[in-house]
Amino acid sequence: MARIAIGGFQHETNTFAPSKADYAAFEAGGGWPGAQYGEPIFSAVEGANIPAAGAIQALRARGHSLVGTAWAAASPSAHVTADDFERIATELLRRIEAAAPLDGVYLDLHGAMVVETHDDGEGEILRRVRAAVGARVPVVASLDLHANVTRAMVERADALVAYRTYPHVDMAETGARAARLLDQMLRSGERPKRGFQQLDYLTGIPSQCSFIEPCRTIYQELSALEERYGGVLSFTPGFPMADFAECGMAVFGYGFEEAWSADAVERLRGAVADAEKDFAMELHEAPDAVRRARRLGEPGAPVVLADTQDNPGAGGNGDTTGLLRSLMDQDATDAVLGMLIDPASARRAHEAGQGSTAIFSLGGKSRIAGDSPLAGEFTVERLGEGRFTCSGPMFKGFRMNLGPMALLRSRAAPGVRAVLASRKCQAADQDMFRHLGVEPRRERIVALKSSVHFRADFEPIAKEVMVVKAPGPALADPAEFKWTKLRKGVRLRPLGPVHS
Ligand SMILES: [Zn+2]
Repeated sequence: MARIAIGGFQHETNTFAPSKADYAAFEAGGGWPGAQYGEPIFSAVEGANIPAAGAIQALRARGHSLVGTAWAAASPSAHVTADDFERIATELLRRIEAAAPLDGVYLDLHGAMVVETHDDGEGEILRRVRAAVGARVPVVASLDLHANVTRAMVERADALVAYRTYPHVDMAETGARAARLLDQMLRSGERPKRGFQQLDYLTGIPSQCSFIEPCRTIYQELSALEERYGGVLSFTPGFPMADFAECGMAVFGYGFEEAWSADAVERLRGAVADAEKDFAMELHEAPDAVRRARRLGEPGAPVVLADTQDNPGAGGNGDTTGLLRSLMDQDATDAVLGMLIDPASARRAHEAGQGSTAIFSLGGKSRIAGDSPLAGEFTVERLGEGRFTCSGPMFKGFRMNLGPMALLRSRAAPGVRAVLASRKCQAADQDMFRHLGVEPRRERIVALKSSVHFRADFEPIAKEVMVVKAPGPALADPAEFKWTKLRKGVRLRPLGPVHS
């Protein structure tokens, strides 16, 4: 039996996004549990599809004794502020030091954190943890599929293990996989061999979905390579919205087996390099997408529109109005958009009361280029307190606390409704609509502020899915960002222009 510290500090940083992550954002969690310290970590993540939950369960099943340290996550946004990074990191380190002597450390990290003061947030966290526990104690971290994995992270951790699914239905399973590697290190007293390579092109997040090509085949290849060589491999297509030198795709792996060598990683790198052209993806302008959706969608088989560039899961504030405006302009029927994150309008709806009609100025608060508030008369159809537990495959077991919510119906375009929430969270679970009495399957058009995660719960009911390009800070084409710190020589989209 070993004594293992459990910690976590997750942020996915879109350095081009309008708002930074402060302590209040880590307290709110954005759908994840709010910041936790000590023993309460265990109950906060229990039963949810969260990496730490999977790791805790796997380590306990192997008889280890666990010490809770610090666990915090916030909605994706611009940089983590320096002060709030220090506040959480200091608490994590203080508790790891207080837990000595330790035999191992497991960390639940994202892998795309940019701090005002550190471009490579996780590299810095791992540097401090390594300095605290020394070289002898194994440190293993699980990572998001959207990790931008750096050389410093690989050097400072004994192993890194990333999700293999996008939508991330395997978060808890990934935590368990990382835990098994840690357990193997503790039992053998050895460290695995390792390999790591970065690729030289970026691809937008809508194209990274593991349900579709080329990622479906790449992850199959990853599993085949593990069958052949043993060990644990990861492929992270990265988060192409974090402007720092090492942003982008990476492959990495670890193995104890005789047959294992960095060849396994090299073969996986080859598969990703060969797939470059297949990452190109069709995006639709909002008016075109709505026209097609009006024609094809029917109650029982809605067309699902992904408002990808304002995805709160990629740094959007979820308050741009471009797609909602297109739905209203074209007088769509049986159409619902969710979730528009607008606390002021949600409060106004609660003050007005259910059944009343009032003038609203919806969204547009983030001052995104090409976007503005949408003013008009809306009827308040339903109110909610924003507390419910998700049941879809991705957010299964997540206990939501989204603040006051409201369902509004446009008076100008009475076939169009909008679901409002007060706290940022990506629309990736049907329960976000059911909380206000909307059954998504009965609509003709369901518009979602999400890039890919929605597919886990919504694709089974969708007649068709279209990825829409409307105003927002989470650009689907990384070549449209003004990169300043990215290393030279990287192609800014598949087969696209080279950053110089
Ligand atoms: Zn992710």
